[in-house]
Amino acid sequence: MDFKLTEEQKALQSLARDFATQRVRPIAQEFDQKQDPSECIPMDVVEEGSKIGLRTLAVSEENGGGGADMLTLSIVGEELGAGDLGVAATFDQTWKFSPIIENWTNDEQKERLIPKLINDHRFLLATCMTEPNAGTDHVLPYPEPGAGVQMSAVKKGNSYELNGTKQYISNGGTAKLYVTYARTNKSQGGLKGITAFLVPHDTPGLEIGRIHDKMGRRLLSNGTLVFNNAQVPEENLLGEENGAESLRVSRIARGRGGYGATVLGTGRAAFEEAVKFSQERIQGGKPIAQHQAVAQMIGEMYTRIESARSVLWRASWNVDYAEVYDPKFAWLAKVFCSEASYEVCKLAIEVHGGMGYMKECPVEKYLRDVISFLHGAGNNHIFRIKMSSNITGLLTN
Ligand SMILES: Cc1cc2nc3c(=O)[nH]c(=O)nc-3n(C[C@H](O)[C@H](O)[C@H](O)COP(=O)(O)OP(=O)(O)OC[C@H]3O[C@@H](n4cnc5c(N)ncnc54)[C@H](O)[C@@H]3O)c2cc1C
Repeated sequence: MDFKLTEEQKALQSLARDFATQRVRPIAQEFDQKQDPSECIPMDVVEEGSKIGLRTLAVSEENGGGGADMLTLSIVGEELGAGDLGVAATFDQTWKFSPIIENWTNDEQKERLIPKLINDHRFLLATCMTEPNAGTDHVLPYPEPGAGVQMSAVKKGNSYELNGTKQYISNGGTAKLYVTYARTNKSQGGLKGITAFLVPHDTPGLEIGRIHDKMGRRLLSNGTLVFNNAQVPEENLLGEENGAESLRVSRIARGRGGYGATVLGTGRAAFEEAVKFSQERIQGGKPIAQHQAVAQMIGEMYTRIESARSVLWRASWNVDYAEVYDPKFAWLAKVFCSEASYEVCKLAIEVHGGMGYMKECPVEKYLRDVISFLHGAGNNHIFRIKMSSNITGLLTN
């Protein structure tokens, strides 16, 4: 693998870094501290990012997007994550699902949706899988009937009627289109008997419930969606009825290659704050970086950030160029980047001493933000189980 970035990658890295530093970071603390979670989402800033091409970076150039490959998305995702993890995830979520709009839709759906995706600067994407009684079951799928997604979709005339509740949905409440999974065959469990639907935000019978009040990553909207006889026309079927399993597998394959990028960016931001503080703070008559205990922590943080980036780039390369795609690299990147950033944030707080625990210092927010990634899309121990199943060939659930 060539570690030399192309001129285009360098330009996008610098564009994203400037946006994160000049537009995102200055407002992040203020939005994070708003009490009402629905007021924590800086949509004007997201729109600004869209205007410089960040929202549609994963859409092909042919369709009017940035045409970025996975490595480029990872590079840009890291920069945005250094600004704020919630804002970065807002864009990242749209990157993950735009390939679905481009590659999994029929011609009529493409004609209808791609112009909206390109032209509306607030056209964010989201996916709705998790429900109050269906969590890990869709990450580590159980084949038993009754396991996994409970939301029902019943065909009535030319429409499907969807009933049920989705929760914790990233971009829930801000997205304009939700890739929603519902059960069309109740005799099957896990990912079987599920159909994917393209559900616009203004679908009759769809209501945005509460916006979750989160510990961190507060600049991303996570919402509950209530489907009460929601009418989804058959033209919005994504793929085939009962065909969601292959769609999800493909989405995970591509989407997760760069999954750890944004959280790595936040870890890097914590590291940079700690370095600066260790050079400026004087104790014992010298900068604390000259005390071995602090120097050891700086070295440890550097080790974790640089190793995580290598894993992330390896996983991204695997999506872009590997002859045979190996999903373990994507799972590894998610696990490794989130744990590295979590450890780095804890150390950054230690380096700052008492100041590290104060809200006026950014590192406490970074720690709250990165914790969400240890868990998001399934706990890291679940991803380790998936790796084991893939290595041994034996399903563990
Ligand atoms: C910030 C954030 C963003 C999210 N965004 C989205 C989104 O955009 N779309 C979406 O659909 N969902 C989203 N989710 C939901 C996320 O995918 C689920 O939280 C996750 O799948 C776990 O489900 P659960 O919370 O119901 O936990 P549970 O499944 O109830 O798990 C509880 C505990 O039991 C463990 N456990 C469960 N089953 C097993 C098993 N078989 N073996 C071993 N341990 C097990 C889990 O690891 C966990 O420790 C998001 C969550 C968060 C926190």
